[in-house]
Amino acid sequence: MRNYMKFHEMPVDDLERSLATNFERGLSNDEVKKRRKQHGYNELEEGEKQSALLLFFSQFKDFMVLVLLGATLISGLLGEYVDAIAIMAIVLLNGFLGFFQERKAEKSLQALKELSAPQVMVLRDGDWIKVLSKEIVPGDIIRFGAGDRIGADTRLIEAKSLEIEESALTGESVPVEKNVAPIRESKLSIGDMYNMAFMGTLVTRGSGVGVVVSTGMKTAMGQIADLLQSAESTMTPLQRRLEELGKILILTALLLTALVVVVGIIQGHDLYTMFFAGVSLAVAAIPEGLPAIVTVALSLGVQKMIKRNAIVRKLPAVETLGCASVICSDKTGTMTQNKMTVTKLWSGGKMWGVSGQGYEPAGEFLDGDRSVQPNSEKSFQQLLTFGMLCNHAELKNDGDHYYLDGDPTEGAMLVAAMKAGLTRKSLKTQFKIVHEFPFDSERKMMSVIVEDRNGKKFVVTKGAPDVLLKVSDSILYDNKLQYLSEALRKNVVQAIESMAEQALRTIAVAFKPLQTGTYPLHEMEAEKDLTLVGLQGMIDPPRPEVREAVKQCKKAGIQTVMITGDHAITARAIAKQLGLLTNQSLVLEGYQLNDMSVEELEEVVEKTTVFARVSPEHKLKIVKAFQNRGHIVAMTGDGVNDAPAIKAADIGVAMGITGTDVAKEASSLVLLDDNFTTIKAAIEEGRNIYENIRKFIRYLLASNVGEILVMLFAMLLALPLPLVPIQILWVNLVTDGLPAMALGLDPSEEDVMNRKPRHPKEGVFARGLGWKVVSRGFLIGIVTLMAFMIAYQGQTENLKYAQTVAFATLVMAQLIHVFDCRSDTSVFARNPFENKYLVGAVISSLILMLIVIYYPPLQTVFHTVAIDVKDWLLITGLAAIPTFVWMGSHFTRKSV
Ligand code: ATP
Repeated sequence: MRNYMKFHEMPVDDLERSLATNFERGLSNDEVKKRRKQHGYNELEEGEKQSALLLFFSQFKDFMVLVLLGATLISGLLGEYVDAIAIMAIVLLNGFLGFFQERKAEKSLQALKELSAPQVMVLRDGDWIKVLSKEIVPGDIIRFGAGDRIGADTRLIEAKSLEIEESALTGESVPVEKNVAPIRESKLSIGDMYNMAFMGTLVTRGSGVGVVVSTGMKTAMGQIADLLQSAESTMTPLQRRLEELGKILILTALLLTALVVVVGIIQGHDLYTMFFAGVSLAVAAIPEGLPAIVTVALSLGVQKMIKRNAIVRKLPAVETLGCASVICSDKTGTMTQNKMTVTKLWSGGKMWGVSGQGYEPAGEFLDGDRSVQPNSEKSFQQLLTFGMLCNHAELKNDGDHYYLDGDPTEGAMLVAAMKAGLTRKSLKTQFKIVHEFPFDSERKMMSVIVEDRNGKKFVVTKGAPDVLLKVSDSILYDNKLQYLSEALRKNVVQAIESMAEQALRTIAVAFKPLQTGTYPLHEMEAEKDLTLVGLQGMIDPPRPEVREAVKQCKKAGIQTVMITGDHAITARAIAKQLGLLTNQSLVLEGYQLNDMSVEELEEVVEKTTVFARVSPEHKLKIVKAFQNRGHIVAMTGDGVNDAPAIKAADIGVAMGITGTDVAKEASSLVLLDDNFTTIKAAIEEGRNIYENIRKFIRYLLASNVGEILVMLFAMLLALPLPLVPIQILWVNLVTDGLPAMALGLDPSEEDVMNRKPRHPKEGVFARGLGWKVVSRGFLIGIVTLMAFMIAYQGQTENLKYAQTVAFATLVMAQLIHVFDCRSDTSVFARNPFENKYLVGAVISSLILMLIVIYYPPLQTVFHTVAIDVKDWLLITGLAAIPTFVWMGSHFTRKSV
């Protein structure tokens, strides 16, 4: 650890010089470029990646493909060069297809990883900006708050109640309190460096600013390479189930193939032909490519979700999304716009209005309809001044309009003060902030210790009014300091409730002068015996689109629940505006949850639509209660304390904009726009992806059943081979592969959000899928065989002709059947031209089939002959049967 000695020993002032940086402005962009050249990106080296060539060759290590290659070799040795070359070509093509599919899946997963890569707030050229963590260089000034992961090894230059959990490096899970004082001790272990923050460790409380001293592999984290996170398994439950199912299917296919071969030999077919037919059939019938196509479909779905602002961090979530039956969502920022404007002020027994919109610092103060000067009343003046002092938000102007840098609640209070003509600059000349106890959702308040020009210190606190009321014992009322009697308390509560009923978010402001010589070291000491100054009520309008999304979720059998730290009455008013509340809905508050066990909560949880004044730890209880009632729960969160609930939920959802690193790491879904509607969109996509996977499983397996049965029946009936091996391989590659991929891209059915959520334990073949596979597959086999027999007799036993007719019928039957797979109900349920990929795949499969049948050089390869035009009527008619024979039942029963 020699590296850090000099930095932790140095006083803060020396650091600036020794790292050639500027604590006020940070590094310049040019300097960053220079340093990046010297130090490289701030990244930990990952293990070797699989090269493209290796990935390509890995496509051929599949057992069945090896068998096929072996068989090709035999046929080559026997002098069947055309067959050998054709089969080789098909195997290669198959390999390429597999390769491109896997590459695509890999690339989109990689892109996903980059999208959710950690970001850091860094000071560059005088501005705080957000950059990817890998962009930072030594000398950069970075800042972090509770829930952030430290981006690089950093010497602290500012620490406000900063605590960091360093278990990733030290194994010690109790957070360490940090400060900025130099430590004059050269031999220190990492755990004792209280003025350093190390890459990968986690801020659990407070906030800090530090200067980066080392990056990438030179960090303490980089030096213990074996601690690098191992990749998580990304198999989804369905993929796992398919893998197990695959084994059964392989065995069945092999058994049936063996049966075909044995019966064929008994019936007098020659060994060589039957060997080849067996191998080709096994290759065609074994759905070894299924898991790969499922991965591609999942990753394509994931990309679609990105377009709708949802990033899936864990692939299994795609499936779970389709099962979600409850969404527990934060209110502020997710259901509301998080654009706050103070519209009401209450102080000393009087309520004032504030005009103006958004963050524009222009507006009037109103007493009823009458415009008034805020400085006419001392307590109003104080309410606004303290609201600005205990505040980090900054108002910026980009020339056209004002925008906010910081917390919207604080922004609203800042703007209200500015409307009264107060400025940060003038306040700074009067007051100095000497200490801060940062806001957290548990306490629901924050405080600063302020020193005025006479050296007098006092505490200024702002926070949830009911909480502040509890820790105040006096009040500024009628411009006098008064004891907070029961009667006055009632007065305040009335004011709070009247603001809350208008859906206003209410923040109270209080203060306390400090006796000379006393200095509270802990927030518990500071935040007591306060004097209440007043209340600020701000609107946070609901997001207009959420009402409709809530309605759609209801239709889809998904219950929406609002969880908020805000006041119950405010929460109820907003829930009403969003259409969440019904007559039976309950509103539960945090204090009630404290007294309830999970079992007791279970009794009422399904009737509860709003949880108000909750702390993050309540969220876990809520998740558990819903889960115990058999629900699949999506739970949102952004703060460091939300992580356990996010992790425990079936679908943990983190906010992309306001979310902390810990919340994001715990989540399986990140909302890029922090918007409730995006959760609904992700669920819709999740349902659709699952349905699409079901569609191509149905298509592929029915095709395989058809292929095996036509061969098996022919052998049993002592007929010649209805299809030659190369034809089977062709059908497997072209007719099965392309349309199956296109089914993976099928647009969602209109009623996908009108159904109840899928049961998570539902098997792949549920809802009639197994029956459909077997019945349609059976019919495809039968019609192919019929076509073969009719053509064989009609053409005076011209085998090649009959085989070509069988080949054409099989292809056509599958290409018609693929449209039936798009819906659970009927082939007519949907517009067949809606999925243009499918139409393209079907048309190209048809054209390729015609080329194989009519183009002489390929006729030799595929053992085909030109089919008479009149026979196409027979082929098409027979091919349509497996799909259209079910029509009657569709009209009597809606689904089969
Ligand atoms: P949600 O849980 O829906 O996001 P919320 O923003 O109300 O709602 P918290 O951030 O936990 O949840 O805040 C809880 C309460 O703390 C708020 O209702 C408010 O009264 C108070 N509060 C919020 N932000 C601040 C702040 N910056 N300073 C002081 N008090 C705050």
